[in-house]
Amino acid sequence: MANVSLVIDGVKVEVPQGTTVLEAAKKAGIYVPTLCYDPDLKPYGGCRLCIVEIEKMRGLPVACCTEATSGMVVHTETPAVNQSRRTVMELIMANHKGDCLTCAKNQNCELQKVARYLGIEEGHFGRLRPRTRILPIDDSNPAYVRDMNKCILCGRCWRACHEVTGIDAIEMLNRGDASTVGGLGNLPILLSRCETCGECVARCPTGALVFRESRVVTREVKTTCPYCAVGCQVYLGIRSGEIVSVRGDKEGPANSGHLCVKGRFGVAGFVHHKDRLKKPLIKRNGKFEEASWDEALNLVVLKLKTYKPDEMAVISSAKTTNEDNYVMQKFARVVLSTNNVDHCARLCHAPTVAGLATTFGSGAMTNNFDDFSNAKCILALGTNAPEAHPVLAMKVRQCVRAGAKLIVANPMEVDFVRDADLWIRHKVGTDVALLMGMCRIIYDEGLHDKEFIRERCENFEAFREALKNYPLDWVARITGVDADLIVKAARMYATNSPATILYAMGITQHTHGTDNVMAVADTAMLTGNIGKPGSGVNPLRGQNNVQGACDMGALPNVYTGYQQVADPKAREKFEVAWGVKLNPTPGKTLTEIMPLAHEGKIKAMYLMGENPSLSDADSKHVREAMETLEFFVVQDIFLTETGQYANVVLPATTFAEKDGTFTNTERRVQRVRKAIEPVGESRPDWMITCEIARRLGAKGFDFQGPADIMTEISSLTPSYGGINYKRLEDGSLQWPCPSEDHPGTCILHSEVFARPDGRGRFVPLEYRPSAETPDAEYPLLLTTNRSLFHFHTGTMTRKVKSLNILRKEELVAINPADAAELGVSDGEMVRVISRRGSVTTKVMLTETSPRGTVAMTFHFAESPTNELTNPAFDPVAKIPEYKVSAVRVARAAPASSKEAMISALHRASADSVFRAEVARDAAAALKEYGLNDDERTAVASGDVEKIEPLTGRLDERLRTWFTARLAQAKR
Ligand code: SF4
Repeated sequence: MANVSLVIDGVKVEVPQGTTVLEAAKKAGIYVPTLCYDPDLKPYGGCRLCIVEIEKMRGLPVACCTEATSGMVVHTETPAVNQSRRTVMELIMANHKGDCLTCAKNQNCELQKVARYLGIEEGHFGRLRPRTRILPIDDSNPAYVRDMNKCILCGRCWRACHEVTGIDAIEMLNRGDASTVGGLGNLPILLSRCETCGECVARCPTGALVFRESRVVTREVKTTCPYCAVGCQVYLGIRSGEIVSVRGDKEGPANSGHLCVKGRFGVAGFVHHKDRLKKPLIKRNGKFEEASWDEALNLVVLKLKTYKPDEMAVISSAKTTNEDNYVMQKFARVVLSTNNVDHCARLCHAPTVAGLATTFGSGAMTNNFDDFSNAKCILALGTNAPEAHPVLAMKVRQCVRAGAKLIVANPMEVDFVRDADLWIRHKVGTDVALLMGMCRIIYDEGLHDKEFIRERCENFEAFREALKNYPLDWVARITGVDADLIVKAARMYATNSPATILYAMGITQHTHGTDNVMAVADTAMLTGNIGKPGSGVNPLRGQNNVQGACDMGALPNVYTGYQQVADPKAREKFEVAWGVKLNPTPGKTLTEIMPLAHEGKIKAMYLMGENPSLSDADSKHVREAMETLEFFVVQDIFLTETGQYANVVLPATTFAEKDGTFTNTERRVQRVRKAIEPVGESRPDWMITCEIARRLGAKGFDFQGPADIMTEISSLTPSYGGINYKRLEDGSLQWPCPSEDHPGTCILHSEVFARPDGRGRFVPLEYRPSAETPDAEYPLLLTTNRSLFHFHTGTMTRKVKSLNILRKEELVAINPADAAELGVSDGEMVRVISRRGSVTTKVMLTETSPRGTVAMTFHFAESPTNELTNPAFDPVAKIPEYKVSAVRVARAAPASSKEAMISALHRASADSVFRAEVARDAAAALKEYGLNDDERTAVASGDVEKIEPLTGRLDERLRTWFTARLAQAKR
């Protein structure tokens, strides 16, 4: 793009065409006051403070909305400019509640800064009539407070909610003096669709939006979010050895400074939770007793020595660092001589590793997040990114708003549907039929990329033959989707090139998960949508380091970088490096290890940072298996539901207390940095494992630290060959990065595929129904999903107060029509029953679940959803079929009057309006909270003064509700 040259306050400045005068001034180092400007948002011109004089231009244009042009001569401070700015500022100040000394933004307030710059003092605007309206403070949200009396209507909050996150929870309301910012109906923000990402709060220039925790920090440490695999870069703010804030790093390649609710508000609560494990525990006579490290480690060593290799298994962790995982799999192979090492990738993306390795030669995301903006079409299959990968979802919404088409294929009405051009609501488990049906249309209509297929792929003839098995009417019947819609989707994907595919566990967690993944790969190859910008097949991995744990060889059949255990050459390489003879037989997968433990064949287990007690399918059976183990060591940050079955529990540090690296879903290796000292006597995982190895007499575990471990990883792993801590200090690297002078790889398969012959392989596929389908006894289909506010088995997020307020319990999502047939109502307790177990939970009526399908998360130990799920697994990837289990729903045993009342009260609390009948219900239920008749009458009558003191006796959620209602009543 050509540059333009202009003069600002006598300074010559050159900027790219399209730059605004405000940005040009910034580049020239000239301060121009503004309150509504934000570099991430479109120019707004709302505050009128950045006015300037431009020679040969009439009036005082706003610099943020005026494009810089060649030859422009700009003056940023003239008498006319200063006078106008002062008048604007005085009007803003006159309407601003001025309690600076007690305001959380004091000293950090942009309004103060501009007022100081313009020399505005109190007496200057005293002559103006101030706003008399006093708005109630909205403190309904557990993470931040809104005081609209301090709002200056700069619009940064609602513009960010629209332009950056695409959530659209808030907007500008009313007109003139009544203007304000709020959600639909201007109800308390907790009742809006706000996702509590904090993006608005982080951008508010005044004290109108403030985080509840707003202590000034003494230092900040840059690290990586410990939750999902988006891999957001964060700065942890530290004060007195504690994490007191989290902010997004604008330079973070995956997040550009944005965070979701878990990343921003879900860290300090678990890191500093009182229940953190601080000392090793040894179970004696069925009870855990604290022990010294020496005692605990000696016992572990003594016991592990007594088992044969095949009798032992090691479970590694997608939550811990690459270095922790590398050491763990090395421990299994070198010290225990077993390849029985696996981790929870088995439960989420094992089909990705298997399916993409078969078709492309490499089982990872092909492109990166930034590249999505090059796509003309995004096909989002079986992903609920807005809940599971929220910052990535923001990116996708931005692409859609910039013009990309979005096709959503999902049986559930996920939030992406709001933004979609087409929504395919196919039956759960029919993805192969849908994708092959689309491929057939693409081929029949000649929309396939003939040259790409000819030049880059193989086995196309067999694939084309197989497409004959997918006539449109049959596909429509199997998937339950209108034939026209399938045709439209096929055409939209094939004709808007480049097009990219995103998918997640809606694709993988099936007994035919590997087929589903290969169907995705076939679809991309058929249209030539692979290996170029804006195209690709992008599996969205779940946990922060599930990609890294796989890369590190925490899998039973591969060493690091997917080098095969069964390949003698690869094995020899590791034997030489590690100085031992290695077991040549691939080990057992997680889903095989647990049944073998149940049978008594696996007798000892060493598990790091996982919670199969809640995460594994048919979890009752898994718990029985863990009970059967003769010796069980669990290493974790909390005494989890799994830890309860251990003989020895070893306290590990969290991500905040150690150094290391995580590899996000883009194959991006990023640093994790120690921000605080280890809590109690906890130790980093790698250090504990190395200590056990040394005590067992092993060599090669004397690492000086994680950097040293990474040196060994890169020496043995071609795709990590050029990755080291020195380079990572300057930023992240995406593998493959084979050498120190290699910049890393953004797009895979651009010239050749990673298969041995360099060609992509089409796989002909046959549609297979799910292992268990609804029948007369179990007429509903249960599918599992995730809540935005919690993560995995809740080990971390359930320790965070604000997240527990935002979502406190399991809810089974039932379509209202199904609920009517079942005779159950919203908020009622029901039992969900499958062939494997029964779980009691509360009903949430919602049309996001299609008829005949119910959905539950697995975050809540009180309602262990995976007691219901089907352990039948995919024959290749051995992943269980979490997405399809047959269940029935029955009303729970009649609730006690107390339970019924509390349930009524909770139901009432979901109501957005303070209505008399709601208040009456609530008053009746409040008896259960020990409120006497008078007090309850006060509630029923809406007597604000009397209600207020009672709120302290309610639980958190009800208190929040009452406080919000009271604020309304006062208005
Ligand atoms: Fe953390 Fe994922 Fe949220 Fe980013 S999107 S802040 S990585 S949980």
